[in-house]
Amino acid sequence: MKEFKLSADEIAQILHHVDATAPSTYVSIVGSMNADHVVEVEAMPKAGETIIGGPMAIHPGGKSANQASSCAHLHMHTHMLGAVGADANADFLLQALSKVGVDIYGIEHVDGPTGSTIIVVDRSGENFIVVSSGANGRIDTDFVQRHHSVIAQSKILGLCLEAPRDVVQESARIAHEVGTTVVLNISPMPDDADKTAKQSLADAADIAIMNEHETAQWLSLDSEPTTESDWQAIDAQLAATGLQRVVVTLGAAGAVVLDDDNHAQSASLRIVHVPAFTVKPVDTTGAGDAFMGSMLACLASGNALASSCAVASAVSAYSTLGKGAQSSYGDAAQIIDFLA
Ligand code: ADP
Repeated sequence: MKEFKLSADEIAQILHHVDATAPSTYVSIVGSMNADHVVEVEAMPKAGETIIGGPMAIHPGGKSANQASSCAHLHMHTHMLGAVGADANADFLLQALSKVGVDIYGIEHVDGPTGSTIIVVDRSGENFIVVSSGANGRIDTDFVQRHHSVIAQSKILGLCLEAPRDVVQESARIAHEVGTTVVLNISPMPDDADKTAKQSLADAADIAIMNEHETAQWLSLDSEPTTESDWQAIDAQLAATGLQRVVVTLGAAGAVVLDDDNHAQSASLRIVHVPAFTVKPVDTTGAGDAFMGSMLACLASGNALASSCAVASAVSAYSTLGKGAQSSYGDAAQIIDFLA
């Protein structure tokens, strides 16, 4: 498969350009914010068993908040739209976002708990994750309407499926009315993704992004794609479900970009492989969100999808070098240093 790579200088140029375009454009992200409660254990408890774990660490998380944080880390003007509850976790999440420059005026306060996640990680790095949606589940189409103008005036809208489905659909509808590009992270994969549900999600997305497992679930695949012809078949199957522009992330194997814009150089370039950077990861939590957030920042400053993914590959590799999600993200200067 054709590789799409950018040099360290080209990535640095794009990052400088993101910074320079930020005052005149912005990204809006509608969705989830969670306080991630992480406990490390020797081995996973069995059903009904009680075990002693290590100290509890609390990290700011939630897919949408992570994506907003990654986008803002690159100095793109970023509006987060969503809800937090009436507890200490609300302040914790808002502080983490505002500290990195995310615009939090579109975050509403509701009664009850803020979204939170319980994550148990064992010695081998295997994890169990339980999400309690809390305030994230309290946003609805009225909420989206109250923030109509923020969505409509953004260059790019980022969505994921931790937000209620009607919120995703209504946000995408507003964006499409005015020609704002919608990037939908098809994650977590819904249990009820029948043909109709997939079609309405595909209608919402101008660009879809998901990891290899989610892609396999979406298409009910039983083997991992490896060769160019496997990817051609996947491209055709994704198109049959309504997805035309897709990024599939492959962890340490990088990402595959399916997009007609890749045509610029040759007709065979609809499918390109964006390689990952070689690192010794400490914690890959939130790498996918680092990828998506930085991709949004690059798209908003006018870059093609493949170039945006090549930058995102560097940004997400950097994020695997620190613990947690948002707490491991780097700014433009740190990414440029890392590449050097
Ligand atoms: P998710 O976190 O959504 O499962 P992935 O695991 O596919 O997403 O990771 C997203 C991106 O992060 C990858 O496409 C790659 O660019 C980068 N990445 C993830 N793990 C590694 C790794 N071990 N080494 C280098 N880059 C990585």
